[in-house]
Amino acid sequence: MNTLKTEQHDGIKSIEQVLRDAYDAGLRAIPYGRVADYIPELAKADPNAFGICMIDGDGRTCSIGDAGTRFSVQSVSKVIILAAALKFRGFDGTFSHVMMEPSGDSFNSILKLDTRSNLPFNPMINAGAIQTVSLLVDHISFEELLDYARLLCRDGGITLDEKVYRSEAETGDRNRAIVYLLKSKGVLQGDPERTLELYFKMCSLAVNAKSLAALGLIISNGGVDPIEGARLIGADNVRTIKSLMFTCGMYDYSGEFGVRVGVPSKSGVGGGLVCSAHGPLGFGFYGPALDPYGNSIAAVKAMEHISKELGLHVFNY
Ligand code: GLU
Repeated sequence: MNTLKTEQHDGIKSIEQVLRDAYDAGLRAIPYGRVADYIPELAKADPNAFGICMIDGDGRTCSIGDAGTRFSVQSVSKVIILAAALKFRGFDGTFSHVMMEPSGDSFNSILKLDTRSNLPFNPMINAGAIQTVSLLVDHISFEELLDYARLLCRDGGITLDEKVYRSEAETGDRNRAIVYLLKSKGVLQGDPERTLELYFKMCSLAVNAKSLAALGLIISNGGVDPIEGARLIGADNVRTIKSLMFTCGMYDYSGEFGVRVGVPSKSGVGGGLVCSAHGPLGFGFYGPALDPYGNSIAAVKAMEHISKELGLHVFNY
């Protein structure tokens, strides 16, 4: 599966080699990772799967490995949820209910929410995303959010993976604890069970590396789909989303990832990673073997290589 597929070739030959080297670096990291198993359905993923897709502003696409394999988006959906909240509830309507601070804790931690603050630290961790979903649940249906996800990922083939959804709904006790803790503090904005249902469904959307590359591209292009020309996210909202991806998008590895890679990114425990680089340039990865923080171990390694080789760090000078 390690054949490089380019849909168009003009001007990206050297990038092909960079991606191939990044892919090899990612493959070498896989034995040090572990597939998530706390959601039973996720444990069935092939730990050796790995794919990369890159799309530029002209729609030129370069993919390698398992870039077409469907997997559940998991926490990468937090970017879509935040985009929807900013669109439908506005900046103040969103951030009067969730903060913008890195938590330094693991993605599903309850600790600081209970002891340090009434509001979740940021929308990129479970507590913050669940709270953000509670802002949406009375205003937008799952089907409308799914349509929005399809537009943002340029992928009409995204569907709900029912097996993952059921597996997560049956075993998501920690998220259930979070939603009821938010309710007990009087800050949750929607019905707890309907909020959880929508949150679990958004985590269970079946995407591939190419969908995530398109998401990264649209964010990198200021919220406009460069191929269709449609504005999907307001420019101010993109700045907010990218800031939170940069500071909070990689779990409690966000700081080190910011130093080493320096590209706004969001990962998920299904093995997905979206990176939104200047260019515009979008990258999507699939590699279900995870590092101890919950990031795809191969994708992080590969993106570090790509960022260095292509000079993508936002603070390069
Ligand atoms: N659905 C997962 C959960 O809530 C998402 C976790 C993640 O990808 O970070 O536990």
